[in-house]
Amino acid sequence: MAQVGETKGIILFSRDYKEKDKLIKIFTESAGKVMFFAKGLHRPNNPLQTAVQPFTEAVFIGNLKTDGLSFLNSAKEIHPLRKLQEDIFLNAYGSYILGLADAAIEDHVYDPALYTFTREALEQMDKGADGETIMNIFEVQVMQRFGVSLNWQACGVCGKKTGAFDFSSKYNGIICQDHWQVDQHRYHADPRAIYFIRLFNSVTYENINTINLKPETKKTIRQTLDQLYEEYIGLHLKSKKFIDQMSEWQDVLKPKDEK
Ligand SMILES: [Zn+2]
Repeated sequence: MAQVGETKGIILFSRDYKEKDKLIKIFTESAGKVMFFAKGLHRPNNPLQTAVQPFTEAVFIGNLKTDGLSFLNSAKEIHPLRKLQEDIFLNAYGSYILGLADAAIEDHVYDPALYTFTREALEQMDKGADGETIMNIFEVQVMQRFGVSLNWQACGVCGKKTGAFDFSSKYNGIICQDHWQVDQHRYHADPRAIYFIRLFNSVTYENINTINLKPETKKTIRQTLDQLYEEYIGLHLKSKKFIDQMSEWQDVLKPKDEK
C-alpha cells in the first residue's frame, strides 16, 4: 500500500544511488524508519538537496509505502542542526545516537516516543548542552527498546535506594554496598558511575544543565556503559568505534578551557 503524504522526520543516513539519485533513510514521526528513493537531487533549487544532509529535520513529502521503497518528492520546514553538522565531536555523538535509534527498532514501526526522544537529544546538543551527557542519557534509556529492562531503582536484594551501589548481572540491576558480597562477578564499577547512570535513567534532557561532570567521572560512566552494552546489547556500530578512537586524541585537540 502506498499513500502520498507528509511527515516530520530526521535523516538517519543517505547514500548515492547511481549518478543522480539517492537512497535516504529517514526516522519519520508518523511511520517509523523508512527507506526512501529520491530522483534528480542534482537539480538546482531542489529543496531536497539541503533536506537530506546529515542532522537535518524537515517535513518530508512523498509516497509512503508500508513495505519496500518509498519515494521522496520534496521537503519543507527544513531545519539543519548546524552545530552537529560542523563540530566533529557532536557529529560523532549524534551519529551514534542515530545508529542506536536505527538498531533499536524495526523499520516501519510507529514509535513517536522514540522519535521525539531522538529528536530532542539532537536538538539539545545543537543548543549547546553537553554532547557526551546527552549521548549517555540516550544510551541508558534506549536500552528498553532493545528489550533490556534493568533495575536502577533500588538494591535487588534489600530494596535500599540510597548509598553506594554496584551493578550486578545476577540481579539485572543495582545492589547496595551491604550486599556486594552476594555477587562476586559484580561490575566493580565506580559508585559515581552507577550514581549518574541511575540519574540518567530517569532524567529528561531539559534538566541536565544542572549536571556538570568531571572528565574522570565521564570516563568511568563510559566504561560502565560499555560493559552494560557489551553484556546486554552486543552491538558494534562503526560510529561507536569512532567515539572510542576519538577519546584518545580528544584531550589533545580540545581547547584547555573546555577540559
Ligand atoms: Zn542491599
